[in-house]
Amino acid sequence: MENLKCKLKVLFLSAEASPLVKIGGLGDVAGSLPSALRSLPDSPDVRVALPFYPPLKESNLDLTPAASFEIAHTNGPLICEVFETLINGVPMYLIDGPPIAADQAVYSGDNFRDGTKFCFFSLAAMELCRVLTWQPDILHTHDWHAAPAVYNLRLIKKNDAFYKDTKSLLTVHNLPYLGHGAEGALQAFGLPRAHMSALPDWAEHLPLALGLLTADKINTVSPGYAAEMLTPEFGANLDEFLTTRKDDLTGILNGLDLVAWNPTTDSKLPVNYSPEDLKNRRENKRLLLEELDLRTDLDAPLLAMINRMDVQKGVDLVPKALQLMAELDWQAVILGTGDPELEEAARQLDRDYPQVRSILKYDDGLARRIYGGSDLIMIPSRYEPCGLTQMIGMRYGCVPLGRATGGLKDTIVDYQLGNPKKSTGFLFEEASSAALTDTLRRSLEVYNDRRRWRGLQRRGMKMDFSWERSAKEYMNLYKGLLSGRRVEGLKVEG
Ligand code: ADP
Repeated sequence: MENLKCKLKVLFLSAEASPLVKIGGLGDVAGSLPSALRSLPDSPDVRVALPFYPPLKESNLDLTPAASFEIAHTNGPLICEVFETLINGVPMYLIDGPPIAADQAVYSGDNFRDGTKFCFFSLAAMELCRVLTWQPDILHTHDWHAAPAVYNLRLIKKNDAFYKDTKSLLTVHNLPYLGHGAEGALQAFGLPRAHMSALPDWAEHLPLALGLLTADKINTVSPGYAAEMLTPEFGANLDEFLTTRKDDLTGILNGLDLVAWNPTTDSKLPVNYSPEDLKNRRENKRLLLEELDLRTDLDAPLLAMINRMDVQKGVDLVPKALQLMAELDWQAVILGTGDPELEEAARQLDRDYPQVRSILKYDDGLARRIYGGSDLIMIPSRYEPCGLTQMIGMRYGCVPLGRATGGLKDTIVDYQLGNPKKSTGFLFEEASSAALTDTLRRSLEVYNDRRRWRGLQRRGMKMDFSWERSAKEYMNLYKGLLSGRRVEGLKVEG
């Protein structure tokens, strides 16, 4: 293949990319994957486009003006300015223009505004490549925010010499976020409804749906979620349509930043430790219990939960589950912020049970001390495209207990199922407090056998969740796209 002899050129389009912008897992992927790809032996030329959100302008980045041009809009052309900076060896293009400058927040909560912002961003990123005469082989877009680029590529491709050989990949991080409310914004940028397409009528003007319709390949962030997307329970009402695309759908598990999350070096942990000196971890537990003003009983299991308090995360299952096992000796810490009702339920649990602490804020340092000092982390998600919490938990010797869904099922090996010598945590099937309690009880029995528990901890700590593994799979996907080959990897059943 002629194309594969020179460096593969990949343009990443994402609404978030850490360390510049991170709201959730999307930021982690677009922050870590490009440099992991660049570190592979075949080292593709990956560049990232990101909106130049107003708060980023305060952060003294070393910027070079890259380009200036106009993007057509029904109300008249919009001027776009692009600046370039280098982050961890990856060129980042920061795209500015009136729709992006209009909002302080990454997501305003108003999808018409956000649709205008992200549609402008998507089209501007494509125009930028043309101005720079940097012809991407792959347009790798993420979620609904960048999906308009995929749709635009399909619309222009036939008559556009610059983009005629470019292939598109759409990575879905969270399927239900289809971009409802953004449809008018797309039309104003000249992206019409996909009338008479394979999409259901209600979806034929929604950005993510249009991306799913027209991307050359689609992937999501775990093989488990890729298969679940084809079912009525998880398919966001697009399962039947997605089934028509199942040969182009794969799942690639996200990695974990092994430098940022390392218990042997984490400066926010009072005591660092490794799988070989787990006893040092006990001091972290003692200090954490003191900090939380809980009983400093190192033998009583300390259960934890850390998340953004959304119904997706199954947070509502936890209060009842803990009440159902109140007669056992355990303590618990909940860290999170989000839905006011779920926060109030956590507050109430804290008031009712002296062995529970609920801390309702975002606090990275405390999260790390919890991973480094608690015994078990609860992840009762209703759905979980990939999930980082279980991987961090394992890496820190905090045994994960999660619902058997999506990325949780792909990464946690349940203690009872299969060989206990391979197990790294606990899984439960049904999204109910009773099922959660049953599995918590099961896990506490294992906890009481210290030798077996240490085995669980050590196996989890030694798992390979590196980005290098994911990057190789993405590279394989890119190469398959360019050669027109069927891509190796998961064949989703549907
Ligand atoms: P999602 O991206 O759906 O929120 P993930 O499991 O992929 O879920 O990632 C969540 C990340 O956010 C983890 O690193 C977790 O530790 C962190 N996190 C969530 N809530 C908090 C909080 N209140 N304080 C600190 N870190 C948090």
